[in-house]
Amino acid sequence: MPAQKYILLLLFVLIGRKAFSQNDIHSIYTLDPKNHYHDLADYTSVFTYAGNKPDDSIVISGKLNDSFKPLALLREKPQAYHTYWLRFSFIATDSINNWWLMLRDSTSSQGYQTQNCYVDVYFTDSLSQIITHERTGSFVPRSRKSVKKIPGLDRVLFSAIPGKMQTVYVKIYNEFDIADISIIPELRDQSLSLPRPQMGQMLYMLIGITGIFTILSFFFFFFVRERSYLFFGIYTFCLSQHYLILHPDIPFIDWYIPEHPWLSVPLFNLLALHSFIFFLWFGNSFVNLASLSKTTHKALKWFLITWSILTCIEFILMSVTHRFILSDYIVYLCMPVMLFFIVRFAFFKNVLARFYVAGAIWLIIFTVLGFLNNMAFSLPFNPWPIGQGGQLIIFSVGLAYKIRLNEKARAEGERIKQMDDIKSKFFANISHEFRTPLTLIQGPLKQIEETIQHKEGNASVEVPARHLKTMRRNTDRLLELVNQLLDLSKLDSGKMNLQVAKGDVLQLLKALSYSFESMAERKQIHYHVHYPDTTVIGYYDKDKLEKIFTNLLSNAFKYTPEKGTVAVNIEADDKRLRFYVEDSGPGIGKKELDKIFDRFYQVEGTEDKGSGIGLALVKELTELYRGQVSVSSEPGKGSRFKISLPIERNAFKEEELVTRDVETTTATTPSYIEEKAFVSINNKVTRTDLPLLLIVEDNAELRQFIKECLQTNYQLLEAADGSKGLAMAIEQIPDLIISDVMMPLMDGFAMAEKIKKDERTSHIPVILLTAKAGQQHKIEGLETGADDYLTKPFDAKELLVRIQNLIDQRKLLRKKFAGNIQLKPSEVTAKSIDEIFLSNVMNAIEQNMDEDEFGVEELAKECAMSRSQLHRKLVALIDKSPSDLIRQTRLLRAKELLEKKAATPSEVAFKVGFNSHTYFSKCFKEEFGISPSEV
Ligand code: ADP
Repeated sequence: MPAQKYILLLLFVLIGRKAFSQNDIHSIYTLDPKNHYHDLADYTSVFTYAGNKPDDSIVISGKLNDSFKPLALLREKPQAYHTYWLRFSFIATDSINNWWLMLRDSTSSQGYQTQNCYVDVYFTDSLSQIITHERTGSFVPRSRKSVKKIPGLDRVLFSAIPGKMQTVYVKIYNEFDIADISIIPELRDQSLSLPRPQMGQMLYMLIGITGIFTILSFFFFFFVRERSYLFFGIYTFCLSQHYLILHPDIPFIDWYIPEHPWLSVPLFNLLALHSFIFFLWFGNSFVNLASLSKTTHKALKWFLITWSILTCIEFILMSVTHRFILSDYIVYLCMPVMLFFIVRFAFFKNVLARFYVAGAIWLIIFTVLGFLNNMAFSLPFNPWPIGQGGQLIIFSVGLAYKIRLNEKARAEGERIKQMDDIKSKFFANISHEFRTPLTLIQGPLKQIEETIQHKEGNASVEVPARHLKTMRRNTDRLLELVNQLLDLSKLDSGKMNLQVAKGDVLQLLKALSYSFESMAERKQIHYHVHYPDTTVIGYYDKDKLEKIFTNLLSNAFKYTPEKGTVAVNIEADDKRLRFYVEDSGPGIGKKELDKIFDRFYQVEGTEDKGSGIGLALVKELTELYRGQVSVSSEPGKGSRFKISLPIERNAFKEEELVTRDVETTTATTPSYIEEKAFVSINNKVTRTDLPLLLIVEDNAELRQFIKECLQTNYQLLEAADGSKGLAMAIEQIPDLIISDVMMPLMDGFAMAEKIKKDERTSHIPVILLTAKAGQQHKIEGLETGADDYLTKPFDAKELLVRIQNLIDQRKLLRKKFAGNIQLKPSEVTAKSIDEIFLSNVMNAIEQNMDEDEFGVEELAKECAMSRSQLHRKLVALIDKSPSDLIRQTRLLRAKELLEKKAATPSEVAFKVGFNSHTYFSKCFKEEFGISPSEV
């Protein structure tokens, strides 16, 4: 009967199982120490249940021995929150000292991969008495472990006496799901080397590499100040630390995890999740998300903050309960959102975003492969290190690229700023360039206008020829400037084209060279021109060649001082034209040599001489011409500019050729160069009763023009630069100074400041003339002590009015000072330099009151001035000559003494330095209207 058969079979199985389990009499293992390694899998029985009860003592007492079954019958994988009791007995054949009892993992091929959370090992004797109780396990604080040294292996020490049986109970309990639970006991001699956890090798490498990246990232953040490095550093830190926590034998982790083992899993969770969070923070800052999409940036920010807060809450909950509470929800919720953001990044058309997405995709691919490898599909390579290492490399390259981009942007920013600086400097200078000729045109025009003020509309006037010339020269200068500027802008817009034609190129250059001869003569410059003795027929662009050549030559003349040398050397063959322009001028410093061809660049101190366009034009025109320009120069010795230009037909494109032959017209230098007025300085003072004015202006024409405006009302002195002006002011003590601001050697500001600080000249009013119209400059001028300020082009009448005003003001001041002295000779309160000067003068007189020898010469000496300087200064300040002042002071003191009745008139006369009583009486009467005895 089949039914019976089945019942029998079932019975057989049941009985068989029962019999088998009963037959599993605990067999005793014989431990022969000659053999250093003993696997006890087959001699161990196991008793398992959920939870962590009953008490250990009950199990060890042997009361539950029946519940143990052979370890080999344990089919299911060991789980967390279950207790596994192992039991085996052994008798040693020889004495054993400090051997290891270790636990190995049954299921994984990796053997000693992980530690259990809690392991208690009881060695008992045949009477179930405990011999030793040892503890190990990753959650057991180090101080409670029998083996304090870690690597992550479950092991305890034991010893045995020969012939004595020991029964060993091992209790294993795990909180948290750890990958593999080790439950196979083995005994081994300490002399055997410990098996290293296999997975460890790779992990150590990863930890090492990630750690290095962390350090480097923080280092770079510190020095480069690029925030993405900071986030990348935190990301790699979380990554390396969360690996580390699995391996508490590494020094850093060793300091806090072993004694606080409960921390490790919550911390692992916290760091693992934050590595994701900071991976996204890194992306946000790396691609500069805020600049790509404000909404995505905002959304990502809030998402990451929320994620981070949730993860921290989970950390606290886990630490308290030793269970995962929110982790699953966090992962299920946040991972898809994270993927969404990575996909969003992929849609930005931005190189950095692409880098980031590439790194992220790499990481995702190898993480998936890694999980597959861990689960079942064993791959021929380990995907984890490739994934980690690869992303680190991709992001490092990305970061380096970003730094380069930043550098570029910064350099560009700096370049723009520099360009702006140069431009604004240029505008200030160019306005000066414009304003000076404009003044010189406007001035004569106004004068003409005044002469026809009362005449009919169509009345004709006579204009002095020199005025017409001045105006013409200055309109030419303006036109030249405007043309240069237009050339530059044409070059910029690409509208400047070559227009070459066939002709005798040498003839043109010769003509141009000769046109500078009169200039050489006027400046007394040795001027040599060398050229081949043939005709050179070639293709050339007359306009550009002329501009290049005259610009170089006029620079040479402009910068070479009188009696210097300028030489032009022209060479030519069939293919090329070369010329050198050499001068013995001041030369150009090495640092400046690179820059003189930049637009608007001017060597410091030469700003007044040009606009900084000439050489830029030369260079850009030469480049357009497909030629070369070079310069060699040594400060103090001179400069040499060399130009090489093609003149053969093949060098030019078809459209650059002009059919008409170039007629070589006799070239002339620009009129402003040719005729620049070299008006000599004439400082002869004729009418001495008029106020003395000093004009300091480097532009000879403008100086001349100012002179013409003022010469009827004033005596005039002239100086061509600030330092000469200052010297002349000190020497001559003029009544007023009119000075330009932009001048060579010393500008107007510096001169005014020096004048105001010098005791000899401090009283002299200064009017500054400038092209810089800005308020800032005005303030700068007034701060340095200038008394007034006029912007070019100025009105001659206005200048006259201002001069008169200042001179009138001085008169008032003089009265004030003079009054002061009369009232209290010894108490002139010192405030300004002038007042200090006066009080010094008064003190000097008072101290020498009784010296009849003390006169003007001595007073001048005491004041460290010459007689005439002192004279002019005192007259300017108090309208009194030094001798008058000395006499008056003496008499005032005499009057004071007489009023006090301190002495007889003849004694007083002697006291105040009069050695003749009659002379004293005479002077006293003159001054006060009464004789000394009447006081
Ligand atoms: P600028 O119109 O101011 O002369 P350039 O472009 O012609 O402008 O020259 C630029 C700078 O180069 C000038 O400020 C000047 O200092 C310097 N430089 C040009 N040529 C010479 C030269 N032959 N000798 C000395 N310095 C020169």
